[in-house]
Amino acid sequence: MAIRQGGVAQATTHEPASGGVRASAKKTGSRGARVSASGGSLNQVFDVAVVGAGAAGMMAAAVAGQRGLRVVLIDHAKKLAEKIRISGGGRCNFTNINTSPANFISQNPHFCRSALAAYTPQDFIDMVGRHGIAWHEKHRGQLFCDESSEDIITMLQHECDDGRVSWRMPCAVERITRADDEVFVLHTSQGEVQAHQLVMATGGMAIPQLGATDFALGVARQFGLKVIEPRPALVPLTFDAEAWKPFSALSGVALEVLVRAVGTATTAIRATTATATIATSDTTATAATDARSVPSAVGIDASRSKLEAAAARKANRRQRPGGKAAQTEFLEDLLFTHRGLSGPAILQISSYWNPGEAISVDLAPGRDLARELLESKQGSRQKLGSVLSGMWPKRLADQWLANAQTTGDGLGEQRLADVPDKTLRELGACINAWQLFPNGTAGYKKAEVMRGGVDTRCLNQKTMEANAVPGLYFIGEAVDVTGWLGGYNFQWAWASGVACGKALLQHGGKR
Ligand SMILES: Cc1cc2nc3c(=O)[nH]c(=O)nc-3n(C[C@H](O)[C@H](O)[C@H](O)COP(=O)(O)OP(=O)(O)OC[C@H]3O[C@@H](n4cnc5c(N)ncnc54)[C@H](O)[C@@H]3O)c2cc1C
Repeated sequence: MAIRQGGVAQATTHEPASGGVRASAKKTGSRGARVSASGGSLNQVFDVAVVGAGAAGMMAAAVAGQRGLRVVLIDHAKKLAEKIRISGGGRCNFTNINTSPANFISQNPHFCRSALAAYTPQDFIDMVGRHGIAWHEKHRGQLFCDESSEDIITMLQHECDDGRVSWRMPCAVERITRADDEVFVLHTSQGEVQAHQLVMATGGMAIPQLGATDFALGVARQFGLKVIEPRPALVPLTFDAEAWKPFSALSGVALEVLVRAVGTATTAIRATTATATIATSDTTATAATDARSVPSAVGIDASRSKLEAAAARKANRRQRPGGKAAQTEFLEDLLFTHRGLSGPAILQISSYWNPGEAISVDLAPGRDLARELLESKQGSRQKLGSVLSGMWPKRLADQWLANAQTTGDGLGEQRLADVPDKTLRELGACINAWQLFPNGTAGYKKAEVMRGGVDTRCLNQKTMEANAVPGLYFIGEAVDVTGWLGGYNFQWAWASGVACGKALLQHGGKR
C-alpha cells in the first residue's frame, strides 16, 4: 500500500466524489482503462472488474490497482459504501485486535485462516495510521474511528486512486456472460464492460433499503458454485406476540447476561410445557417442577435437563472451529424490546440460532440466585419483591414476579420467609437459565449481516478464486464466512479483499 501522511491524497482522474462517483471524460494514467463520461467502455478489456464498491471490493481493487493491474470498480449505489458509513454507530468498528478464526461462523471453519493470517488487524491499523486517522479501542478489542466512518471510506477511495482504479457508479450490473470462455462480459446500465477476471464483492442481503442484494449468490449459482442457505444474522430475535405479552412491559430494560445457543436438544421441552413458545429450564437440575410458581408463559421441565444439557453441549461443540469442546456463549448486554430481545448478546447468539431451536439466557451471570434467595430467607421480614429488587434490576424483578402464576397474593408481596424453598429454587433457576424459543428474527431489514453465502469449499482459501472457474473470485460477506459482532466482519472484508487483490493477474501474466 502507498504511504500517505496526514490523510492527504492526490486526486486522480477517476476519483469518486463524496456521495457518488465523479465520472471523468479524460483518460486515466498510463495503467487506467479509458472510459467515457457516461462510463461507456472504449473497447478496452480490463484486467479485473470488481462488482461492489464496499469494504471488500474497494480493498481488492486498491491492492490489484497498486500492483499495476487495470481495474474497474462497479457499484449500483448512488452513495459510496453506505454500510461502512452507518457502521459502528457512524464511527466504524473497523477491526478487532483479538481476531482469530474462532470468531467466525462457516460450514468450513478453517477456510478463513489463511486470509486472516496473511492480513491481520495490525496491517489494517497500519493503513489507518498512514492515513492519519485517529482511533480508539472501545470494548474487548473493538477499534473505532475517533471522528467518523467517513474517514475509512475516504481512505479506501485514496487507496483506489493510488491504484488508478476506474469507477462506474452508480451503475447496475444486470447480468454476466463469458466470451470465448475467457473474458467476462458485464452487461450494465452503462453498457458492456469486459474483464479477464471478475471479483464479486456485492456483500450480503442485510439492510436491503441500502441496496443490498443477493447478486453474488446468483452469479455463484450461474457458474455452478454451491451456496450455503443465506439467513439474517447479528439480528434481534422475535417471539410469539401472545407469549411475549408479559415481557413486553420490560421494553427498554438492558442488563448483562450470559447467553447460550441450546440447539435442537431442547425441542422436547417445548412440547411438554404449557406455553409452547417460551420455556425456562433448570439445567442444573436442582428444582422440581411447579408451574404455579414461575412467571406465566414460562414452564420448567427439570427432569429432562441433564440429558438436554449434555445434548446441547454436544450440539454446540459442533459450532466450534478446531474441534474445541467449548460452548457457544456470549457475556454481553441484552435489551428487552416490544417484540422480543435485542442487544449485543442476542445479536451474537442469533448467528448460531436456527428456526425451531432454543436459546438459554442467564439473567444473573456469575451468581446463583436460588442460593442467594434461600440464604436471605433466614430471619428475613422483607417481602420477596424487595429482596429480589435488591439483587436484580428493580423493573425486571417487579415484572418477573408480577408474571408469576400464584394463588392468593402476588409472589412479590409475600414475605420471603413464607415462600417455600422449592419456589425460591425455581425462581432462581428460572432467572439463571431462562430458556426461550424465538419464533423468528427481525429479518434482513434489521440484521447487520447475512450468514451463509458462497460455499467456501468451492473457493481457494489463499486467493478466493473459484476452483472450477479460473478468473472468478468471491470476497467479503458474500462468502460463507460470518464474523461475530465487534469488528470481525470488516476484518474479513479487508483480509479476503487483500488475498484476492494480491492473487489477481495482469493479463498475459502466468498463473
Ligand atoms: C447497521 C450495520 C452496522 C455494521 N457495523 C459493523 C461494524 O461496526 N463492524 C463490522 O465489522 N461490521 C459491521 N457491519 C457489517 C459490515 O458492514 C459488512 O460485513 C461489510 O460491509 C461487508 O463488506 P462487503 O464489501 O462484503 O459488502 P458491502 O460493504 O455491503 O458492499 C457491497 C457493495 O455491493 C454493492 N452491490 C450490491 N449488489 C450489487 C449489484 N447487483 N450490482 C452492483 N453493486 C452491488 C452495494 O451497493 C455495496 O456497495 C455492519 C453492518 C450493518 C448493516
